[in-house]
Amino acid sequence: MTYDDSPEKSAEWLRLAIAHMSKHDAAFHPVTYAVWYEYVSGGNEALRRDVDHLTMNGRKLTEEITRRMFDKHVAEITAEKAQRINGDLRRMLGAVADSTTATDQQTTRFSERLTTFGKELATNAGSRLSESVGSVLRDTRDLQQVLDGLKDRLVATRGEADQLRSELDRVREQVLLDGLTGLVNRRGFDEKLAGLAAAEGSLCLVMLDVDHFKQINDQYGHVFGDRVLRAIGEVLKSAVKGRDVVARYGGEEFAVLLPETRVDGAHSVAEQLRSQVERTRIRRLSTEETIGSITVSAGVTAYRSGEDATQFVQRADTALYASKAGGRNRVTVA
Ligand code: GH3
Ligand code: MG
Ligand code: MG
Repeated sequence: MTYDDSPEKSAEWLRLAIAHMSKHDAAFHPVTYAVWYEYVSGGNEALRRDVDHLTMNGRKLTEEITRRMFDKHVAEITAEKAQRINGDLRRMLGAVADSTTATDQQTTRFSERLTTFGKELATNAGSRLSESVGSVLRDTRDLQQVLDGLKDRLVATRGEADQLRSELDRVREQVLLDGLTGLVNRRGFDEKLAGLAAAEGSLCLVMLDVDHFKQINDQYGHVFGDRVLRAIGEVLKSAVKGRDVVARYGGEEFAVLLPETRVDGAHSVAEQLRSQVERTRIRRLSTEETIGSITVSAGVTAYRSGEDATQFVQRADTALYASKAGGRNRVTVA
């Protein structure tokens, strides 16, 4: 799904969404907003049905149920959605700031003018006129106070919205990261690949898969297995240059994108990665025992201009498979 609502339309959705948010029990964060934006903009039938069902007889959506709605109906498009919400918030903040400043300037000017006028009258005209001007002046000061209060509230709202926005940026980043290793995840990889494939210059891909990882899990347990994955992630990350992208592609499969790199360069990088993993020793916390012999198999290929991402990845995967078939702990170039 894409969000191509006009700014006017999305501002309307924003208002409607906020109205709904205030009636329910979930906190006002981007997840809640995304659910209600989707609900009011009407493009998500399944979400609407679920929410209508859940809110029958005036029941309120809790934090947990709201998150569940998000996961079920909204999550798969979070990155894109986050950007859209960000745009909405920016527009809303702009409008709030403009109207606050304008109102404030106007009342200040009005009040100053009345004060001056009042002084002039007090010296030049009769006392009754001066009295009535005095009362107008008091009314104006009251008004000023109300407006000051309003301004404080708007400033606070603005602070909240700012917070919401930075939280949103964080959500967006998190969506592209793998929780276990901190590397970019599959989605992050797809985004980076799309960017790099569209750019000029050579690009290579190394796909790596841990050898006999199931045995490591079986022998030492999943917690240790997870530590192995983290350690391999660190080894890969620290072995390549900053511009290179190291991703956790799937369970125990990693992908490394090498921009500005030709295939023989990529071959030697892959060989280095393979040998560094092989030399890595991981200590078991429980027994102080050190586990060696963790190895990876790798497949390397160069991007062919014009091909789609699937073909590119598939070729590296086929080369990786050849490394497995050839005895593992080795690198194959497609
Ligand atoms: P091969 O050398 O052919 O790649 O053998 P393998 O055992 O590595 O491959 P297989 O696909 O049979 O097993 C992969 C295992 O990786 C199975 C799965 O339980 C484990 N795995 C996947 N993700 C995780 C994870 O996040 N943590 C842990 N501990 N294990 C994982
Ligand atoms: Mg695998
Ligand atoms: Mg494996």
